[in-house]
Amino acid sequence: AALVLALGACTSERTTDPESDGPAAEATEGGMVGIAMPTRSLQRWNNDGAHLERLLGEAGYETSLQYADNKVDQQITQIQNMINQGADVLVIASIDGTALGPVLAEASSQDIAVIAYDRLINETEDVDFYATFDNYRVGQEQGRYIEDQLGLADGEGPFNLEPFAGSPDDNNARFFFSGAWDVLLPYVESGQLVVPSGKSPASNDQWASIGIQGWSSETAQSEMQNRINSFYTDDKIDVVLSPNDSLALGIAQALEGAGYVVDEDWPILTGQDADLANVQNMLAGKQSMTVWKDTRSLGTQVAAMVDQLLQGHEVAVNDTETYDNGVKVVPTYLLPPQVVTPDQVGEALVGSEFYTADELGL
Ligand code: BGC
Repeated sequence: AALVLALGACTSERTTDPESDGPAAEATEGGMVGIAMPTRSLQRWNNDGAHLERLLGEAGYETSLQYADNKVDQQITQIQNMINQGADVLVIASIDGTALGPVLAEASSQDIAVIAYDRLINETEDVDFYATFDNYRVGQEQGRYIEDQLGLADGEGPFNLEPFAGSPDDNNARFFFSGAWDVLLPYVESGQLVVPSGKSPASNDQWASIGIQGWSSETAQSEMQNRINSFYTDDKIDVVLSPNDSLALGIAQALEGAGYVVDEDWPILTGQDADLANVQNMLAGKQSMTVWKDTRSLGTQVAAMVDQLLQGHEVAVNDTETYDNGVKVVPTYLLPPQVVTPDQVGEALVGSEFYTADELGL
């Protein structure tokens, strides 16, 4: 893997209050990198931002790290401020993948390079690179986990499934759902999986009909409660496809509230991100797996790409086919995600120092 080189003597400096747009810092010699993150409300984005800020600082770049409280307008203002501050590169984890066209046109007119971080930015020419974990594979791993656990390939069933999908404005959500549904839909069609709520997209492109806006735990919880109350008066859920951990947290609360009991009738429940609360839930038997995306590797990769850009080197990518943003195929660096089940938590998450044993109560 490419390494970030230490260049120049500039230090990283957080120039503003994290959630707001404060005073600008002048760009310095090593270059200035604006980092726009969606929200502090999810643990992963805090890790992502802090890690990237540190790596770029160590490499001699100045950074401006901003969180936008999941508000699209706020993110646009923050990006505009980074442009005004003289950013050389923008690293953006977008909130709404289609809302950034005008502000990125402005960036492009000032020759500012743009790297889409984790989420693709759509419908614009003005995004140069994309770095992410393989989003389709995340969903595929969730689908395969369900397939294995239930013995679907051996003809087992029928099982009651309730599928969920991510935020309709997040381009990743479509990939997560497609990866999972390509595995599971054939079993829905064969009758081995039954969806009592009827919230079963007939094809991948209808995923948004079961999407949870803003990846909200609360919305996922009330949606799960509604499905339980309306469709499970005499029946039990066997499996819930949750695209990520924030949804899984709300779903687990709804299950608990409805009287499901761990080790008795608690359903299989998938997730993604290895957020702390979810890993704790996994250890308590309330979540079956998570797809872990070690945000440190993504930060390291993006810091290397920033460095390559600012040093005028070729930027390393490993996928030039998959991520069509509606205007162009954006050259992408894809990282592999990793399934973690409760018995793998110690080795995968503590062994790699993603968490300490103490944090997990191990
Ligand atoms: C990210 C996931 C995250 C979700 C909610 C997605 O774009 O890829 O890791 O769980 O957003 O923040």
